[in-house]
Amino acid sequence: MNDIIDTCAAIIASSRSLICLTGAGISVESGIPPFRGPGSLWETIDPMEFAHIQSFMKNPERIWRGFLAGMKDLLDKAMPNDGHQGLVALEQTGRLSTIITQNIDGLHQLAGSSDVIEFHGSFAYQRCLLCDRRIPSKDIDLSRLPPRCDCGGIFRPDCVFFGEMIPPDCLTRSRELAALCDVMLVVGTSAVVQPAAMIPVIAKSNGAIIIEINPEPTPLSAKTSDYVLKGTAGKVLTALVDAVNRIHS
Ligand code: NAD
Ligand code: ZN
Repeated sequence: MNDIIDTCAAIIASSRSLICLTGAGISVESGIPPFRGPGSLWETIDPMEFAHIQSFMKNPERIWRGFLAGMKDLLDKAMPNDGHQGLVALEQTGRLSTIITQNIDGLHQLAGSSDVIEFHGSFAYQRCLLCDRRIPSKDIDLSRLPPRCDCGGIFRPDCVFFGEMIPPDCLTRSRELAALCDVMLVVGTSAVVQPAAMIPVIAKSNGAIIIEINPEPTPLSAKTSDYVLKGTAGKVLTALVDAVNRIHS
């Protein structure tokens, strides 16, 4: 494992344009379970159903009770972990420029990463379905579900549900960065949710080297990833950053 870490560190240290795609796995060590893979919390419910816009519009109370209220509770308590900090450290070495995240937890920004594309929006804000008012999630009252705006409308999180469009500016910028980078880190994503899963494929087809970090194999591992660092985000990114710093010192 040390050999492959050193090889990847050397690639990162000499990269011209390094970007990173992250998924739910990077926040597992912050106590937020992923949708798939070991440790997923929602074994009793199907997140594909509970996080689908049609389910929400059909019965917002059910989705708030069964999914969103619990999610908000977890997100309120979560703090960045060594994986998020590792990416901040890579930015500080002058190598990593941008993180494209599928996460809606805001932990990259909280850790201190400065350029984060929130591909699936954010849970930090809620939007009223009736008047479109947008308020910070910390200000909504969950004592009655679903939470309501002063106008009587129901609040929804300002993130992208399954069945909804990716914000067009995020999609365009992510595709452009993917096409231009020469190295891409792919951390903690099952790479099955489209169009996010296409981002590493675009990078690869434009000649970038793909370095994947995940304790489990993914659809990228065999064909798209040039290097697979098997392990948790916190552990692997810490080792990788140490190895990059050794090269720089
Ligand atoms: P996913 O849940 O489909 O897959 C998680 C991946 O993380 C798996 O491949 C798993 O092997 C890996 N993993 C588990 N523990 C890990 C660790 N400690 N370190 C590194 N990797 C680890 O996640 P996804 O691909 O991001 O897709 C799920 C969708 O659900 C995304 O669109 C995302 O927006 C949303 N989601 C977000 C959060 C969050 O914001 N934290 C949490 C759950 C789901
Ligand atoms: Zn309203």
